[in-house]
Amino acid sequence: MRAARFYDRGDIRIDEINEPIVKAGQVGIDVAWCGICGTDLHEFLDGPIFCPSAEHPNPITGEVPPVTLGHEMSGVVNFIGEGVSGLKVGDHVVIEPYIVPEGTDTSETGHYNLSEGGKVIIN
Ligand SMILES: [Zn+2]
Repeated sequence: MRAARFYDRGDIRIDEINEPIVKAGQVGIDVAWCGICGTDLHEFLDGPIFCPSAEHPNPITGEVPPVTLGHEMSGVVNFIGEGVSGLKVGDHVVIEPYIVPEGTDTSETGHYNLSEGGKVIIN
């Protein structure tokens, strides 16, 4: 599959990459549409800002460049990872692109998107 990947400031390339492996707790999605966010433009012009760098890997995933950009997308579920409920293959979905650290307690606020250490999927 092809992906727009951020290598560094001013360096975004279209690469052929392997299909991601869907792990437990995840779902696979055939992306139908993906927007280019202002964040993506700022990463290209001034980054890395939120994107990881070799010196600052993503603290949750450990990712370092190159990373696939795009966090505003919709598509169709094509695979359900172990332990996922409430979705099925063929569902049309819109992505909420947050990654929350494992074990994060959101019981007090209920706002996982504001959790300390939470990240957007590109960073
Ligand atoms: Zn955005």
